[in-house]
Amino acid sequence: MSTHKYSPESLMMTYGYKPELSEGAVKPPVFQTSTFVFKTAEEGKAFFELAYGLRTKEQDEELGLIYSRINNPNLEILENRLCLWDKADDCAVFESGMSAISTVLLEFLKPGDLLLYSKPTYGGTDHFIHHFLPKIGVEALGFSPKQSCAETIQMVEESGKSKNLAMIYVETPANPTNSIVDIECCRNIADQFSSVNKKVHVAVDNTYMGPLWSHPLELGADLVLYSATKYIGGHSDLIAGAVLGNHEVMKRIKTLRTFLGNMASPHTCWLLLRSLETLKVRMEQQMQNAKVVAQFLNNHDKVEKVYYLGLLEPDSEDYAIYQKQYSSPGAMISFDIKGGEKEAFQFLNHLQLFKLAVSLGSTEGLAQHPASMTHIAVDPESRREMGVTDKLVRLSIGLENVKDIIWDIEQALEKVEIAQIETSNYKISTNI
Ligand SMILES: *Cc1c(COP(=O)(O)O)cnc(C)c1O
Repeated sequence: MSTHKYSPESLMMTYGYKPELSEGAVKPPVFQTSTFVFKTAEEGKAFFELAYGLRTKEQDEELGLIYSRINNPNLEILENRLCLWDKADDCAVFESGMSAISTVLLEFLKPGDLLLYSKPTYGGTDHFIHHFLPKIGVEALGFSPKQSCAETIQMVEESGKSKNLAMIYVETPANPTNSIVDIECCRNIADQFSSVNKKVHVAVDNTYMGPLWSHPLELGADLVLYSATKYIGGHSDLIAGAVLGNHEVMKRIKTLRTFLGNMASPHTCWLLLRSLETLKVRMEQQMQNAKVVAQFLNNHDKVEKVYYLGLLEPDSEDYAIYQKQYSSPGAMISFDIKGGEKEAFQFLNHLQLFKLAVSLGSTEGLAQHPASMTHIAVDPESRREMGVTDKLVRLSIGLENVKDIIWDIEQALEKVEIAQIETSNYKISTNI
């Protein structure tokens, strides 16, 4: 027998699908059905026993198809394929990234628990942590990516709640600042505050870099989460989410999903299966384009600072984390324009090829203003602390020809009127 091991991208077209079960169709049809016919009553009973965890699987036994809230071929094929990228035991796909995130937080946190989380996080996650979790008695403690591991440990100890620490939730690189958090350090903190009776879980939102360029499970995370709306979907035509991990954590996640009923629909899964076939070529090309755009912005005199992982200083601490965790700088760029909201809006309003829209990771370039859009609901003080200021613009780089992308950015920047005196003063003072 051949021992050749295929790369994930080679398996995205075929893995987990048996044409002979679908009239030989080379692609899985959309299994647009709510329920599945059992061959016999005994078979139905056996499937239910497994689905509800009333007995363990026999060798080689697979859970049979029951009902599309529990399982469906499109959902299962998709989950099996997603597992390949992150080398996970199991995967659960959800109807949105937010439902993946909220299901994880609900399953692993109970009244009295403490959640430690990195700042900033996606606006919706931030809302769930600050406006929903307190209602069920869960407290949250945020830490900055600038803190050292020791400082974060000290912060947990000084909170007086270290015994209640139940989960560490990190988003890295963070949306929209591209700040990065050391996952290994989070694992160490989690282990330090775990006891025989209580394991502190580490969950990582890998939307910006996964599933291609970072594999948090290999770096010590227990759970990896995605908004599959972004790179995984990649065409701005669906909303979905995913969670991956080992059998033990995924059994808990899938059980809660069964009862919240927030799994993705067969049609969404079918679209995601199509998206996965081109995932690698899309992400690689987007990253190649982003490298050129980041350099261009970095040299532009209307741009104050560019936040892109490809521009980290090689002797910085962030660069060391970057090298450990990522195999590419990605395709998300944020930058401070000289000026403030007025200048940022002028730039955004003059873009022609980029679409002025939130979301990211799609085939077309997207641009937005985090402080007044995705992160408007974040408390202004923390927004400033995180660097989400009025001058920050976020770009998601698409698949257009890079010459056209640069042309568009250049002509939009040209239209930005920066108060002249300020610019020339700045130049003179830096020349002295
Ligand atoms: C978009 C996004 C989410 C939320 O995902 P939805 O699919 O919109 O629910 C979560 N985390 C990050 C980093 C995101 O960019």
